[in-house]
Amino acid sequence: MDFNNITTPFYICEEALLENNLKLLDYVQEKSGAKIILALKGFAMYSTFDLVSSYLKGCTASGLYEARLAFDEFKKHKKEAEIHTYSPAFKPDEIQEIAKISNHIVFNSPNQLLKYHKIVKKINPNIEISLRINPEISASPKDIYNPCGIYSRLGTTLNNFDEELLCHVDGLNFHALCEQNVEVLQAVLFTFEKNFSPYFKNLKYINFGGGHHITKKGYDVERLINIIQVFRNKYNLDVYLEPGEAVAWQTGSLVSSVLDIFENGMSIAILDTSAEAHMPDTLAMPYRADVKGSAKAGEKKYTYRLGGNTCLAGDIMGDYSFDEKLKVGKKIIFQDQIHYTFVKNTTFNGIKLPSLVILKKDGSLKIVKEFGYEDYKQRLS
Ligand SMILES: *Cc1c(COP(=O)(O)O)cnc(C)c1O
Repeated sequence: MDFNNITTPFYICEEALLENNLKLLDYVQEKSGAKIILALKGFAMYSTFDLVSSYLKGCTASGLYEARLAFDEFKKHKKEAEIHTYSPAFKPDEIQEIAKISNHIVFNSPNQLLKYHKIVKKINPNIEISLRINPEISASPKDIYNPCGIYSRLGTTLNNFDEELLCHVDGLNFHALCEQNVEVLQAVLFTFEKNFSPYFKNLKYINFGGGHHITKKGYDVERLINIIQVFRNKYNLDVYLEPGEAVAWQTGSLVSSVLDIFENGMSIAILDTSAEAHMPDTLAMPYRADVKGSAKAGEKKYTYRLGGNTCLAGDIMGDYSFDEKLKVGKKIIFQDQIHYTFVKNTTFNGIKLPSLVILKKDGSLKIVKEFGYEDYKQRLS
C-alpha cells in the first residue's frame, strides 16, 4: 500500500519512531531504577500497545474508562502491568470497578482519601494508595497547563495536608511539569522534598508525574537519571514517572489535503482537516504545528493561511510559506500530531474524523481505523 493512496485526513504513527522513544525511556528505567508508565491522557493508540508494553511498566489512567482501556488493551500484552488511576474526584458508582482493575489509586484530596480508602482496600486488598500533592511550584508555560497555578484544583497543598493521612497511603504523587526540562523537575523536587520529606518514612514510592520532555532533543537524560538515583538512595523509595507526551513525541503526522485556494487580502487554503477538531492544542495552547516543507510566513516565495473545514472563524492552523504554489489536492503534512490529538478529537461541525494509520517497522502501512457518519451521529441522540 502506498501512502498516497490513503484517503486524507489521517494520522500516521511511525512504529520505528515510537520504538526509539520507548528505548530511550527504557534506558532511563534501567539506569535510574525508576518505573515509567504511559499516561493514556496523552496517547492511547492501543494498537501500538504490544510494542509499548514491551518497554513500559504500565499505564496511568485518569478515571474509569482509561483504567478499563489499560486493563483490556495493555494488560493483555503484559500480565504484570501496573494500572495507576487518578481522578480529581472519584464517583461512588465507579469506585468499585476502578478499585478492582487498578493496582494503584491516587486521591486528589484528603476528603476523597478518607471517603474511599476502606472501600478500595476491601475490594482489592493489594491496591496501593497514594495522595496527589500540589507542590505549589511550577514553571508551566501556560496557565491552562499549570497544575500548580493559583486556586488550582489539582492536588493537596501543604496547608491541606495532615500527617494523620499517612497511615492510609503507600505513596505520594505530584505532577507539576509540562513539556519541561530537568532543571524544572529539580526545582519542583527541591520544594517538594523540603515540605514533604518529613513524611516519607513509611512510604513505598513517590510518583514524579508527567511533563518530562525526555525524548526531546537536548533533554539532559543523564541528569534525570542522576536525580532519580540520588533520590532513591537518599530515601529508599521507588520512583515512578508517568509521561504521555514524551512517549509519542514526534512519532508521526497528520496528513491532509488542500480542498480550495482563494484570495482575501492574502492567499487562503482550506484543508480537509480542522485545527479545532483534530489539532486542538494548536488553538488551546496555542502553538504552531510544523508543516513539512514549509517555513514561516514570508520566508519562502508563497505564503498561505492554512484553515480548517469547519464553520468556526478561528479554525486556522496558521500562516505558512512554501517554495511552490499550493494546488488543490496537494498533501499538507502536520508534523508531531500523535500525542494530545486523537485522544481529544471531536466531530464538531460533522466533519470526518481522520483515519488512524500505522507505518509498521517493516515498512508496511496498516489502516487501523476509518471513521464515518455513524461516529458523528451516534453521540447526538
Ligand atoms: C497529563 C498528566 C500526565 C502526562 O503528562 P505529559 O505532559 O503528557 O507527560 C501525567 N500525570 C498526570 C497526573 C497528568 O495529569
